[in-house]
Amino acid sequence: MAYCELCAREVERTSKHHLLPKQKGGKHTQTVDLCQPCHKTIHHTFTNAVLARNYTTLESLREAEQMQAYLEWIRPRKIERLNF
Ligand SMILES: [Zn+2]
Ligand SMILES: [Zn+2]
Repeated sequence: MAYCELCAREVERTSKHHLLPKQKGGKHTQTVDLCQPCHKTIHHTFTNAVLARNYTTLESLREAEQMQAYLEWIRPRKIERLNF
């Protein structure tokens, strides 16, 4: 099992999210393990420019106003994949 650092759920697999987007020079910087729904939602919600400017820590992502409804929705659920 893997653990998502954003929604704090145990999931089958996670992927690495670069807190500073790769396109913005973050290739070798800190990553966090995220489940697929969280990872998709982040990139669906924020552009890389916004991520690079405002959301380069896990705390800032977790506290982002735009993420609250999603996090409340996903936390009690066993969902591994999301299709947008
Ligand atoms: Zn998650
Ligand atoms: Zn990412």
